Amino acid sequence: DRYPHELSGGLAQRAATALALIGDAPLLLADEPTTGLDRDLVERTVDELRRHTDEGRALLIITHDLAAAERIADRVAVMYAGRIVEIADAGPFFGAPGPRHPYAKGLLDALPERDFAPIPGMPPELGALPDGCAFAARCARADARCTAERPAFDDGLACHHGLTGRASHSLTKAAADA
Ligand code: SF4
Repeated sequence: DRYPHELSGGLAQRAATALALIGDAPLLLADEPTTGLDRDLVERTVDELRRHTDEGRALLIITHDLAAAERIADRVAVMYAGRIVEIADAGPFFGAPGPRHPYAKGLLDALPERDFAPIPGMPPELGALPDGCAFAARCARADARCTAERPAFDDGLACHHGLTGRASHSLTKAAADA
């Protein structure tokens, strides 16, 4: 019996999620569905969304909550400065061999439960992106090519010098394809 403005942030968030789950929409779009929730509610929200995907619905979740993404996602797309820079299966992305893009690796390394090592610097202004890679000013692997040439998105990655952990993965895939 309450108006939306009378609900707390967390309750409004849960009410919005519940509304989205009513009906039989085959595709759910969830933009930061766990923001503002305490950890217990995050777990319950993730479980509920996962249950719906297990029942055959597709879910596109946009989130900064990597722990929630790890629990719910089958595939992960990492965005930086408005572009997708890596797409990967969630298992190898969060486990082994890990991300291939330096920004994606930095995101995981920054987690308290991992290295708790922040990515240096700040993101670029979206209205004044550099000619080359948008992550170059913050990337330890950047070289002259990175600052001069924007990396194309190819084989799930937009990087001139992707991390090597993925090489065996690609080789495995190549062997499987062969
Ligand atoms: S293209 Fe270069 S600067 Fe950009 S993420 Fe890859 S290695 Fe780093």
